[in-house]
Amino acid sequence: MTDQIFFAARRADFMDRIGGDIAILPAASEAVRNDDVHHPFRQNSDFWYLTGFAEPDAVAVLDPAHPDEPYVLFVRPKDRETETWDGYRSGVEGAVAEYGADAAYPIADLDKVLRTRLGGRRAVYTATSQHQFAQRLTRLMTALRSVAVRYGRPVPDRLIDTSPIFDEMRLYKTADEIDSLRRAGDISAAGHAEAMRFTKPGLFEYQVAAAMEYVFRIKGSRRDGYPSIVAGGANACILHYTENDSELRDGDLLLIDAGAEYEYFSADITRTFPINGRFTPEQRTIYELVLGAQLAAFSVAVEGTTMRAVHEASVDTITEGLVGLGLLPGPIDRARRMNHYREFFMHGTGHWLGHDVHDSGTYGLDGKPRHLEVGMSFTVEPGIYISSERPTIKLPLLEYDQEEWTERRLMLGATAAKELEVAEREAAGFEEFELPTQFLGIGVRIEDDILITESGPENLTGSLPTDPDEVEALCAETPTVPLLG
Ligand code: CA
Repeated sequence: MTDQIFFAARRADFMDRIGGDIAILPAASEAVRNDDVHHPFRQNSDFWYLTGFAEPDAVAVLDPAHPDEPYVLFVRPKDRETETWDGYRSGVEGAVAEYGADAAYPIADLDKVLRTRLGGRRAVYTATSQHQFAQRLTRLMTALRSVAVRYGRPVPDRLIDTSPIFDEMRLYKTADEIDSLRRAGDISAAGHAEAMRFTKPGLFEYQVAAAMEYVFRIKGSRRDGYPSIVAGGANACILHYTENDSELRDGDLLLIDAGAEYEYFSADITRTFPINGRFTPEQRTIYELVLGAQLAAFSVAVEGTTMRAVHEASVDTITEGLVGLGLLPGPIDRARRMNHYREFFMHGTGHWLGHDVHDSGTYGLDGKPRHLEVGMSFTVEPGIYISSERPTIKLPLLEYDQEEWTERRLMLGATAAKELEVAEREAAGFEEFELPTQFLGIGVRIEDDILITESGPENLTGSLPTDPDEVEALCAETPTVPLLG
């Protein structure tokens, strides 16, 4: 495998970061769907990032201080009968020959081999959020305590989370990783374009998903980066709608949030377009406001700014537009300070993108928002969702800093923080506000994937139009995927 060189480079970097300690990292496990049927397996992204090894029930040990075997894989051994039923295994031979391990052992030997390696070590790096595996390591360390007690030799007495290391490493994409991200973006754009061509009233959401995902597969994506959201009409106002089982109605919009995965990199695109191919004036108005917010966000999505600045730019545009359309009471300054936009735009403007659709990486550094740098990739996805079930909204007359509230939620936990928010809102009082009825039930999100490069931001998904006229033109094209029967 030619790309083994990339994994080897990542391992070398990772080993530098753990110094003289040892890292023990688990692969993902298979999840049972029913009886002997499993959900489709997809390797854990951190594990994949360092190993390129796609099988379940494996463990990687990275041990830079070891003289002969700094990189060891524990894998399912070859077993002809099991492989006949359940598929190919690389086995210990393949782990060495194909995946560059200095040594490999059957997974059943894990505890036995680890016992010989943990003596003299102070700490073990692992994925502490994978509780079962972390507990297993803790049990092993406890068992080794007797050695420390009897002979006074050190054994590891603590686990160190590997997340901060992966957060930093995975945030910066290399040239080869960027090639894969671009490809994921192109494939995803092609699938979305087909969805626009294919959609018409009377189809079901899952049928549009099928046409789109067919293009993803045919163009070389083995699976989706996340479950496709194909949300017609009011379903667009449910942010993580994945039932995709409603019939598409003439006159409604269709919101599709979907991305293909390519070489373990995911794209993340949202487009919203008219099911019958033509925006109504009200739909176009909201659409153009969201598009304006996205363009405003793009204009600050450059090296040296922050994700927060990107969000603020889209929030400013959306607030101004909502007040202008009579969807929020003015003045704009007051609406902005009271964060009234959150009635219609309740999520962030973007997130890191990479192996996972919500990728590793911190948004702050030393308590401050982190600066955007070359090689970082993220989504820009403003939205406006006007529920048909709330013709009148109750706006809290409270000025607050959204970032402070977010921090409080993280510190206190959602339940306690929400209680405080409710109390503060009640104390401040409310203004009842009736919405113009012509906008009810309209939900629009537009999402593209940005990469920060030396020559400025690159839109990785820009081959798919967002201009409403171009979107309508694409909707009018003949579908490539046939409608059977
Ligand atoms: Ca998305």
